[in-house]
Amino acid sequence: MNNPEAHSNQLIVIPRSQHNISRKSISDAALKVLYRLSNSGHRACLVGGGVRDLLLGVHPKDFDVATDATPEEIRALFKNSRIIGRRFRLVHIRFGRDIIEVATFRAHSEDSPKTELDTHGRILRDNTFGDIEEDAIRRDFTINALYYDIHDFSMLDYAGGLQDIEQRQLRLIGDATTRYQEDPVRMLRAIRFAAKLDFSIEASAADAIHECGRLLAVIPPARMFDEVVKLFHSGCARRVFELLREYKLLRYLVPALDEWLQEEPSELMLDFIDQALVNTDNRVNSGQPVSPGFIFAVLLWPVVLQQANQIQSDRQRMIPALVQVGETVMKRQVRHISIPRRFSQMARDIWSSQPRFHRTQGKQAQRLLEFPVFRAAYDFMCIQAMVGLFPYHLSRWWTDFQVDQDIATVAEPEKTRRPRRRRRKRSAD
Ligand code: ATP
Ligand code: MG
Repeated sequence: MNNPEAHSNQLIVIPRSQHNISRKSISDAALKVLYRLSNSGHRACLVGGGVRDLLLGVHPKDFDVATDATPEEIRALFKNSRIIGRRFRLVHIRFGRDIIEVATFRAHSEDSPKTELDTHGRILRDNTFGDIEEDAIRRDFTINALYYDIHDFSMLDYAGGLQDIEQRQLRLIGDATTRYQEDPVRMLRAIRFAAKLDFSIEASAADAIHECGRLLAVIPPARMFDEVVKLFHSGCARRVFELLREYKLLRYLVPALDEWLQEEPSELMLDFIDQALVNTDNRVNSGQPVSPGFIFAVLLWPVVLQQANQIQSDRQRMIPALVQVGETVMKRQVRHISIPRRFSQMARDIWSSQPRFHRTQGKQAQRLLEFPVFRAAYDFMCIQAMVGLFPYHLSRWWTDFQVDQDIATVAEPEKTRRPRRRRRKRSAD
């Protein structure tokens, strides 16, 4: 399927005079790497997200370089580099806070002894070096297989990516089912790029997600964590969430939430998730810090709260119930996505501190303010208050209290009306 003969696309070369990628928009670090490789007699190209995003007028997140130099040759050229990866060996070159990822051109070769597949057809290891054309067609989407050649500043399109950029669609290179079988994470990448670039997923790539979704169960939980964080910290988490539901993939990421969504979910709680994702998107897009702990706290909150309410109806005793349920829910979750302990602990602390926001009396309030997760727990509570899951006047009180801690001893919180929020129309699903 994925060999050059079977692939009908012809190489399209676009000379510098006919495309709009300028060196000014490429980071100094990436240029340095490209030039040094090229001056040492190697072929060196910018590839992947950097080229794609520049063509779309989007600011690239990072720059990836592809070259015919081997990892050892790259390593020898850059003191500030190290070889990483097992599945694919790559070189990371560090320039201050910037890292340029450099990959040697690789071939996708099913027959090669260097390609290891598991029983589902998943690629476990693939370090067969190849030429640039082979490197292009082993990539996932056509729009990710465009090269900017530092030698003459031309653009090379081996897979029809330019046309797909024009048509704003994500098309897998080769047969969609096979490509997802080789690496099921490509389904999550499809969702992420569709959300981030506002592209459609071409029909065969979309259909195959329904067929192959279950393969996500074989992805190691640590890789799932990386991908899920990329999805929810993409700056378009709200759209990602919609797409995950549409493509029925949520069950492989957060099965407890998926089950909760199957039973008539409460509108308020759906609003809460929506609002929390909007909040995360706003933070990402304005450069404020975000944490995976907060995301998992949000996604599992409907389940945690429902189960805590089932075992404890007395609000005064809610904290131990949330602690207990939080532990069980998290235990199940980490079987699918291995959430590093500091983040799972953060989610559990956010949950169990929610009832404490009802207590506005002096010392207790002061103590909550000193909690390590206070800031995240407070944001979480404010989002609950916005949608009507928590008394709005209390959220106002906590906002004021952080500015002027004397108010706790001066007055009881005053009941103010929550501003009316316009409900978003929701299609039934
Ligand atoms: P961004 O960096 O904006 O998230 P990207 O497309 O650059 O997007 P990376 O994860 O940085 O994504 O990967 C760089 C390139 O490597 C991709 O553009 C693609 O060509 C190739 N690639 C990455 N992951 C896969 C995969 N799972 N299967 C095939 N090719 C992949
Ligand atoms: Mg990239």
